[in-house]
Amino acid sequence: MRVYSGIQPTGRKHLGNYLGAIRHYVTGQEQAWATGDEAIFCVVDLHATTVAYDPAELRDRTYDTVAILLAAGLDPAKSILYRQGDVPEVPELTWLLTSVTAHGDLNRMHQFKEKSAQQRELVSAGLFLYPVLMAADVLAFRADRVPVGDDQRQHIELMRDIAERFNTRFGGEGREILRVPEGVYPTVAARIMDLQQPEKKMSTSSGSIEGTVYVLDEPKAVEKKLKRAVTDSANPPEIRRGPDKAGVSNLIDILAATTDRTPDEVEADLAGARGYGDLKVAAADAVNALLAPIRERYADLRGDEAAIESALAIGAEKARAIAAPVLAEAREAMGVGPRA
Ligand code: ATP
Ligand code: MG
Repeated sequence: MRVYSGIQPTGRKHLGNYLGAIRHYVTGQEQAWATGDEAIFCVVDLHATTVAYDPAELRDRTYDTVAILLAAGLDPAKSILYRQGDVPEVPELTWLLTSVTAHGDLNRMHQFKEKSAQQRELVSAGLFLYPVLMAADVLAFRADRVPVGDDQRQHIELMRDIAERFNTRFGGEGREILRVPEGVYPTVAARIMDLQQPEKKMSTSSGSIEGTVYVLDEPKAVEKKLKRAVTDSANPPEIRRGPDKAGVSNLIDILAATTDRTPDEVEADLAGARGYGDLKVAAADAVNALLAPIRERYADLRGDEAAIESALAIGAEKARAIAAPVLAEAREAMGVGPRA
């Protein structure tokens, strides 16, 4: 059994990334370690080039992201942690997969619609092909399970279709060249919303600084952002979730996820509260308690770029050893290059 996840080194990683993804990477790693399975994690620098970005900063953001992952508990001795750009098998597989990817499907992707609308200059073909590169990431490793936030459901469905279509078109006789992976979604905090615009997901590459809690924010900043979170003007205030209560629902989800309770339990526990202030203070305290140790470890790790590079080099070697034979089989089946 193989678990696989990727994370972008765009901007700074936030509470949504932590609650929706990173902390599940760590539990996935521990489970895989205990059962003799494999957990693979990738910092996807090639994906980060699909929107406007500063080349002079990309390596630094990659180190930031790797240091956050290590600080959160990923351990290169227990899992494979590599940088996407170090494994050329993946972009090559991406091209092969484009032959079984429908243009119309890519056109329907919510993420493409949202991100292309935000681009001021160029909507790159890379942004359009983002889901195919993501499919190649996972499929190159024949991963079984892909822990992701709720925003990635559509990309996971497409990835499954691509794998199935590839197998049908090139495998013949029911031969499974590419494993069809399953998405694994959190039951709580699968989609953390922006604190200022609770109808939008918290995001690294868009959204406001005030509405985004960064993993590396100082405790005072976390407190300020949560205290200023948009709620609603219900009178009296009602601490409950609901479609008409995006801001309050988000705060309940955050508090539930950071205190290992269900949203229902949080609602019950805060039933006697007089206003939204209690909910905000409780959420700020819980977020800070969770992130403080990660920030401390991050500060220790981030300074040593040579150590980060050597960890990534080991990861890349292990990753290529898995991806190369899968790519070779895909090429062979497609008739690309010499006879095997
Ligand atoms: P961008 O908005 O630029 O795509 P991002 O914030 O989505 O950036 P990614 O690196 O693309 O960051 O995502 C890493 C992981 O975090 C993915 O599994 C994604 O599903 C998850 N994730 C992203 N945003 C949220 C969120 N607001 N709540 C829960 N999970 C999230
Ligand atoms: Mg994303």
